[in-house]
Amino acid sequence: MRLILIGPPGVGKGTQAALLQERLGLLPISSGDIFRAEIREQTPLGVMAKSYIDQGLLVPDDVTIGMMQGRLSRNDVREKGFILDGFPRTVAQAEALDGVLAHLGLGLSGVVAIEVDDEIVVSRLGGRRICPNGGEIYHILTNPPRVEGHCDVCGTPLMTRPDDNESTIRERLKVYHNSTRPVIDFYQAHDQLVRVDGSQEPEQVYEQIVTELPG
Ligand SMILES: [Zn+2]
Repeated sequence: MRLILIGPPGVGKGTQAALLQERLGLLPISSGDIFRAEIREQTPLGVMAKSYIDQGLLVPDDVTIGMMQGRLSRNDVREKGFILDGFPRTVAQAEALDGVLAHLGLGLSGVVAIEVDDEIVVSRLGGRRICPNGGEIYHILTNPPRVEGHCDVCGTPLMTRPDDNESTIRERLKVYHNSTRPVIDFYQAHDQLVRVDGSQEPEQVYEQIVTELPG
């Protein structure tokens, strides 16, 4: 199976990618991981990417797509299938990816958009509390600590990460919707889009993904 996962922060994409890897043996491929590997190995594309990142600039599409093409060309991808996460982010990247996959003779099984109401994301992420000491994660509604506001393990007062403040979450959602809508429309127009209800429990989301995608 070869698929792309699209979804807002807090929708549980990471959980689904882990389940798909564990149960179907698919390779999770994220542009972030590829960047880090290429930069670490100082490949020509990695060196180029780093020069942009060091200047605080976006890595241009041709560099990103070159790295992606290199990764997708490897044998393990052909043997196991993949889950792309975090790529493509724009229609230009989606078109380039189509070209890369066609060139490699790899068709997509589908593009999974995990959708959830913004208010649910705000509640899920906004209710998260972290222990600054041990990193334990709680949720005021779904996984509260035994003593309100304190870590079960070490008793340290819990905190909200800056990323999880409501206004920050709403801003991230706005950016997500603006940048992702054209990509979703692109795959919809190509008849490759599968919409999945992200408000369900993770197991149900997983079931819906594997049921609606062709093997
Ligand atoms: Zn703790």
